[in-house]
Amino acid sequence: MSVVVMKFGGTSVEDPAAISRTAGIVAGRIALGKHPVVVVSALAKVTDQLLRAASAAASGDRTGALAISSRLRCRHRDTACALLKDSGAIVTLIDQKFDSLDEILRGLAAILELTPRISDLVVSFGERISSRIVAAAFRERGVEAAHVDARDIIVTDSQFQKAIPQDAIIDKRAQEKLRPLLEQGKVPVMGGFIASNIDGITTTLGRGGSDFTGALVGGALTADAIEIWTDVDGIMTCDPRMCSEALRVKVISFEEAAELAYFGAKVLHPATILPAVKKNIPVLVLNSKNPTNEGTRIISLAPHCKSPFKSIAVKKKLSIIDVVASRMLMTHGYLSEIFAIFDKHQCPVDMVSTSEVSVSLTVDSNEKLPAIAADLSKHADVKYEGKKALVCMVGEDIRGQSGIAAQVFAAIRHINVRMISQGASEINMSFMIEEEDAEEAVRSLHTAFFQNPDPLVFDVEAQKKQLLASSS
Ligand code: ASP
Ligand code: MG
Repeated sequence: MSVVVMKFGGTSVEDPAAISRTAGIVAGRIALGKHPVVVVSALAKVTDQLLRAASAAASGDRTGALAISSRLRCRHRDTACALLKDSGAIVTLIDQKFDSLDEILRGLAAILELTPRISDLVVSFGERISSRIVAAAFRERGVEAAHVDARDIIVTDSQFQKAIPQDAIIDKRAQEKLRPLLEQGKVPVMGGFIASNIDGITTTLGRGGSDFTGALVGGALTADAIEIWTDVDGIMTCDPRMCSEALRVKVISFEEAAELAYFGAKVLHPATILPAVKKNIPVLVLNSKNPTNEGTRIISLAPHCKSPFKSIAVKKKLSIIDVVASRMLMTHGYLSEIFAIFDKHQCPVDMVSTSEVSVSLTVDSNEKLPAIAADLSKHADVKYEGKKALVCMVGEDIRGQSGIAAQVFAAIRHINVRMISQGASEINMSFMIEEEDAEEAVRSLHTAFFQNPDPLVFDVEAQKKQLLASSS
């Protein structure tokens, strides 16, 4: 049996048109003899709104919180009514769910406290409801969907808001609850992101966690493929908004994709990689608004590529902190003291570079910087500056090649580079520049490295078509 896990993100289920399109995509897979398991996100933006409602309630704004909930109730009802001829049952269900959400919000407004556990409960409504609507819409469109509560399958520890999945239990539950449905020719439809601990208390896998659910289910069922349906054509050589010559990357390794994900290429959740890698299951990134496009295939061992890099990622809104130990020489334990300060302020550090007397670090949170700088200045001279961008170039073929750094910096010789790091992973080269130089740097680098793209790895056809269209 060829099982394929199809995960649809928020934009693939954002409105009735998107949900209908999604049903068509799933029906297409069934027609090919595949057995899909469908994982869906909440409708686009719903997760953010639920979190906003929870924090409004907990800060005493009961009316504001209930108003958000009421708008969400209408949106879900309208979506269901537009999709279904007989929407009575699902509307009743939506109303029940929102009634209980409202009860929780009123409770929060009374106790004025939002714990991670309750936050997970509030936010879970997004996927609990979207998966019901999608399952009903699928049935009406001839796809034999069976709704499954994700919390019965994805079992985690109790770290609310970023719970860790318990693989062995998930494998067992998937075999017990999903396999029989597949054998009956049914299409299980479940929410992503939401899970529960072993006592059945709702948890979540962290923001963007639906991809993770997809990969966990794919791993547990040893699926033939995991498809991540989103609203872009796949992983691109760079952000097309920054450089119109961006090309689709047809195939990329897990390691490269993970590296890009950490550096802000928002196409997929880095942890998606793990359960898929472990079982060597290919992950495909596909566009539900352009379903005939081949997307990007992420596999364990990418084929050798003629160009050293696969993609250029940029992360903006970063700050650089320079710590200069002018008042004392770098002594042992100095770095750990510096990191302890970032740790105390719960501020993750992106990139570090050190010399005998100075340390430069980059972080992406600005509001904590004054307090961090105040603590650091007890030990050293501290300067910090915002509006920086991190450019990260990823490719397995830079391993062991000489002269690549020279080519990179020659391409951007006119741009001031503030910090450089070639990661221990050996597959990325990263550097910091001023935010205002980011577009220019990406365009120059793209011209330098993607002039003669390898047709095995990059979608050269689309580029040719574009050139033809623009010249005619
Ligand atoms: N709905 C959740 C979020 O927005 C999970 C996901 O869509 O991946 O973070
Ligand atoms: Mg996502």
